[in-house]
Amino acid sequence: METKYWDLKKNPRQAMEEAAALVRAGEVVAFPTETVYGLGADGLNGAAVARIFAAKGRPVDNPLILHVARKEQVETLTTGLSASARALIETFWPGPLTVVVPKAPCVPDETSAGLDTVAVRMPSHPVANAFIAACGCPIAAPSANLSGKPSPTNAADVAEDMDGKIAGILDGGSCGIGVESTVVDTTSPIPTILRPGGITREMLENLLGAVDIDPALAGNPALRPKAPGMKYRHYAPAAPLYLYEGDEAPLCLARAAERAAAKGVRAGILCDAVTARSLRERLGRNPSFLILSWGRGKADLAENLYTLLRDFDRFHPQLILGMGVDEGGMGLAVMNRLRKAAGFHILQARDGVVTVQGGTGFPDYLLAE
Ligand code: AMP
Ligand code: MG
Repeated sequence: METKYWDLKKNPRQAMEEAAALVRAGEVVAFPTETVYGLGADGLNGAAVARIFAAKGRPVDNPLILHVARKEQVETLTTGLSASARALIETFWPGPLTVVVPKAPCVPDETSAGLDTVAVRMPSHPVANAFIAACGCPIAAPSANLSGKPSPTNAADVAEDMDGKIAGILDGGSCGIGVESTVVDTTSPIPTILRPGGITREMLENLLGAVDIDPALAGNPALRPKAPGMKYRHYAPAAPLYLYEGDEAPLCLARAAERAAAKGVRAGILCDAVTARSLRERLGRNPSFLILSWGRGKADLAENLYTLLRDFDRFHPQLILGMGVDEGGMGLAVMNRLRKAAGFHILQARDGVVTVQGGTGFPDYLLAE
């Protein structure tokens, strides 16, 4: 299939109309949102939704989020909203917040993966909103990557995964937030975060009081995540990623990088701007090393994370050493993605020692001085 490409800087109205007509005809079109790019199809048309799963290679037991252009539209997709769902919608829509609600019969099993609940979000990105409104139906849209790869945050990354597989790509530039929406189950007595994301735990607690986090997110393989998608190894770069956490992560990561360099290992390094600068000084110009900084704070890490993971894939390192951040604010969402990308291979660096917190098969030079 030839994939159409629309640059929204050129003729946005016509582009949007053409893209919406394709969606109404049951095709799949990628579009930008404030979190990541989505792969959109008519969410009430089971055959159209099946095309999304085929393009992504997504397991069919992993349900999709329905995207709406107006708050009231959610009422047509559910048999009823709890008080917490109403408060969340009133406060955080439009925005990076997805509510899981009881599903109305009009939502096909393809969209909800056979569950009796459905996930709904109203995005705040003006292109996403105009596109959904032009389609005239709720848009089922997962992230526009091949299943298991990092989510795309610009149109070129979408094309890398989806060219030839979907009807079109609406190019609206880069996404601002960079990690996916927060998914909250509003059907349980205490609202529960099933996936941390752009709306932080603190923001939810301010509004609702108590909020739970699905305990399976900590990586215990014995627990089954309530969001089916969270059980898959997501967001993963091609090379193994080892994650340093704890107060002394910058120092211990830098030392491990030096030992790797001494051994002639081809490595990627993912860290903040300060650590990146000092490492570049210590290692000099080493062509076997790709040192990528996400910038300064957690919001920069969220915005740049997936692009950086894709940059590492193009460098073909033997391994990647990454640095963690604390879990406050956006830290919860980015650490969730980073730990998954690392397959829970985590090293704790504090009080002068590095200990393995999870995972096996660490090269010994990551641990030993
Ligand atoms: P993505 O489409 O890649 O943004 O992922 C959407 C996430 O929401 C996945 O982890 C899904 O498993 C989760 N999800 C979607 N619908 C539901 C639902 N009805 N109940 C629980 N989790 C859901
Ligand atoms: Mg995804």
